[in-house]
Amino acid sequence: MIPESFISDLLNRVDIVDVVGRYVQLKKTGANFQGLCPFHNEKSPSFTVSPTKQFYHCFGCSAHGTSIGFLMEYSGMGFVDAVKDLAQGVGMVVPEQDDKIPPAQRAQMQAQSMALSEAMNLAMEYYKTQLRSAPNAIAYLKGRGLTGEVAARFALGYAPDGWDNLRSVFPDYSAVALVEAGLVIDKVDEEGRHIKRYDRFRERVMFPIRNTKGQVIAFGGRIMEQGEPKYLNSPETPLFSKGSELYGLFEARQAIRDAGYVLVTEGYMDVVALAQMGFPHAVATLGTACTTIHVQKLLRQTDTVIFSFDGDKAGRRAARRALEACLPHVSDDKTIKFLFLPSEHDPDSYIREFGADGFEQQVSEAMPLSQFLLREAAGEHDLDEPEGRARAQFDAKPMLQAMAPSALRLQIVRGLASMTQSTPGEIEGLFELSKPVAVSRKAPARSKRQEPVGLERKMIRMLVTHPSLALQMDAEALEACRQFGQEQYDHLLHLVQLAQSLGPNGTFAALAQQLKEQGEGYDAIIGEIAATPEPEIDTERLFLAATVRELKLQQVRDEINIVMEAINAAITAKEPTDVLTTGYRELKALEDQLLREQEADKSFR
Ligand SMILES: [Zn+2]
Repeated sequence: MIPESFISDLLNRVDIVDVVGRYVQLKKTGANFQGLCPFHNEKSPSFTVSPTKQFYHCFGCSAHGTSIGFLMEYSGMGFVDAVKDLAQGVGMVVPEQDDKIPPAQRAQMQAQSMALSEAMNLAMEYYKTQLRSAPNAIAYLKGRGLTGEVAARFALGYAPDGWDNLRSVFPDYSAVALVEAGLVIDKVDEEGRHIKRYDRFRERVMFPIRNTKGQVIAFGGRIMEQGEPKYLNSPETPLFSKGSELYGLFEARQAIRDAGYVLVTEGYMDVVALAQMGFPHAVATLGTACTTIHVQKLLRQTDTVIFSFDGDKAGRRAARRALEACLPHVSDDKTIKFLFLPSEHDPDSYIREFGADGFEQQVSEAMPLSQFLLREAAGEHDLDEPEGRARAQFDAKPMLQAMAPSALRLQIVRGLASMTQSTPGEIEGLFELSKPVAVSRKAPARSKRQEPVGLERKMIRMLVTHPSLALQMDAEALEACRQFGQEQYDHLLHLVQLAQSLGPNGTFAALAQQLKEQGEGYDAIIGEIAATPEPEIDTERLFLAATVRELKLQQVRDEINIVMEAINAAITAKEPTDVLTTGYRELKALEDQLLREQEADKSFR
């Protein structure tokens, strides 16, 4: 958990114009900056960045958010990574509450990771240079149909023959960073004594592996002729964990957005070959099975993920692993499909034989997740026999249990039910699925929070625009807000408290970020604020006071009406009215005072 106070400090320190400007070309227009929206396709700019609000907003696709939100959306980073990235840029160190690492050690770790990045960069440049003077490697890449342009785009390189070529790049070849970055191997004898150090990659075509920020974090090396291993990757290092990285994701980001989906292949040669053939929205796992982290990363970039597997047995096994990794992330607004190429093909060979159109055709016929899951459950079992049907149910059980309740899960349950001669309710009961959908009687519709209207909406807008105004909301003012209704009051109270907790320097960006993290459903209002010029805080202060006064006035008038009715009732019943009349006068005095204030305010303006 990163403390909220740190997040709001951070948003005060970074400038969103710099953050966005790193990725989008911005031009100053009036008070704001404009550029082509990175989140939808456009020819003329409708993407604006407001330095005063520290917020971006697109008038074309209504994408909006803070610097943190931008990094998450644009690069697919998680929240914590985005915060860390921004913090590093302004020299802040992210505190981790449950973290026992002392600051000195943390600083050292940061320095170390920087040394590793630096080493990786130098190595990449070296390998790139070497490729230019390696006719055998160039011939190999040309033989695979690659042009220099694509080689440059993926920063391909070549590690020449020889045991310690990197000596020419790193004057201190014995530096610890080299082994920690996985560039060299230290050979030790049986007693663990260090004998000799040598380059990890020798005589291989080099594929730099970049993280979502574009930094080189590892290499993949492919042998050109016969030999083992065919592919050699960097080991796990402080920079690189193969279970969470995807080859080509950095290079493919824009293409994935344009295509509306990402294709996941099994090797980096596939990615590069597909890009060469005009299919740039492919990525690859790095010699490991697909993990849930991979899936999560991909679904942050796009709603549709298509996995491509070779048609052979190994491909089938890999597909099954990918299916399992996907299940926890399945939801009704995401599409996951599986493409099985004919057994003699991989994407590289298929696209070279049938071209991009032929390949697209295959992709469009990929098998939906539901179908693949049912096919896996059916397996080789004889569904004409009770035992076979029971076995299919047995095999499907863990897969369905891994899924969150969704309309898609219900569809799969239905499919399995009809396949195994059961009812959907029986399957859900037997599998003990969480929140069964089929068996439950119609659940009471969860009251969706109503969009606030009128004064309530005005008030929320003012508070979100200028959170520091919440400090002027005292108990009395809040009391007057009870008129909105209990649920609305609770929401408003929460908003006021959140805004107050940001203190006198609370900003729109900081509050918007918190509301987003908490899933508070203020998105429409935040979007509206982002899209309109920012009102002056002093004017807003007066407006808020006026709004509160109006609420109080309404409240007093309601009470006056109640007292008047009570007085009438007392007169009819011939009961004393003294107390009621005193109360009435007090309320009237309050009303007069509020009206006078209102008048004064008007003349002031
Ligand atoms: Zn847009």
